Amino acid sequence: MLKNDYTYCTDYDYNTEYSCESSGCYDEGICRCGRIENATVKSVNLTSLTEEIYSQFMPENKKSRNRESRISEILYGGEIIDKYCIYRILVVNRAFLTDCWEVNTSGGYYGDEVDSVTIELSTLNKINSQCEKLFTLETLSEKLKYVLELEYGYVLDDIKDCEFELVSIYKNHIDFKKLNQNHIKNVKMEDLSHYSISNYDLPRGIVRGEIDNYKIVDGFHRIIAASDKKPFSVFRVIKN
Ligand SMILES: [Zn+2]
Repeated sequence: MLKNDYTYCTDYDYNTEYSCESSGCYDEGICRCGRIENATVKSVNLTSLTEEIYSQFMPENKKSRNRESRISEILYGGEIIDKYCIYRILVVNRAFLTDCWEVNTSGGYYGDEVDSVTIELSTLNKINSQCEKLFTLETLSEKLKYVLELEYGYVLDDIKDCEFELVSIYKNHIDFKKLNQNHIKNVKMEDLSHYSISNYDLPRGIVRGEIDNYKIVDGFHRIIAASDKKPFSVFRVIKN
């Protein structure tokens, strides 16, 4: 079972109320009266949350970890694939919503302190079981189809029997004209900073077709947020 303390994957804030006079802090010369109030999570960093969760699925022993990563690399592409899928699982479960996070505090000898920042248990349980399932899948295609099904509820007919390969492309290799213009317009109006090249360096989605006129199967937000000038990686559908 995944642990539930992701303090360093979140940005949180709180106010502290003091009552030094009535609490006798001045007499003692030490403030012990601070009470934390309105502690809230301001934002969740899905990239570092992905790293934290991934590392919990790896063996702690360094030798076994290296062995496992070499095998998974050969079988399906390894670490980057699992991290891609974990990130998708986090998005499917809307782990970016600050409402499902809580800052836990407790009293110490020097007043209230922050103990941990946790995600609601029902969400953690879903993330846990979906990640467990992910790590039982042994091919790239099984893993990608699994997260597509989680996200959309089904896998597109003409992808069902396909394989995938990781390729590096430029944004202008995508034929945006063929895609739903309304959707593109809406996506462009959203805040996509979490998918900027400095915040997100995993593959940016799934495309099909040939170079210079790829169509986006999945990943509009991630691909639109990519740099216009720098290459990025995506999964390309290969017809069998
Ligand atoms: Zn005080």
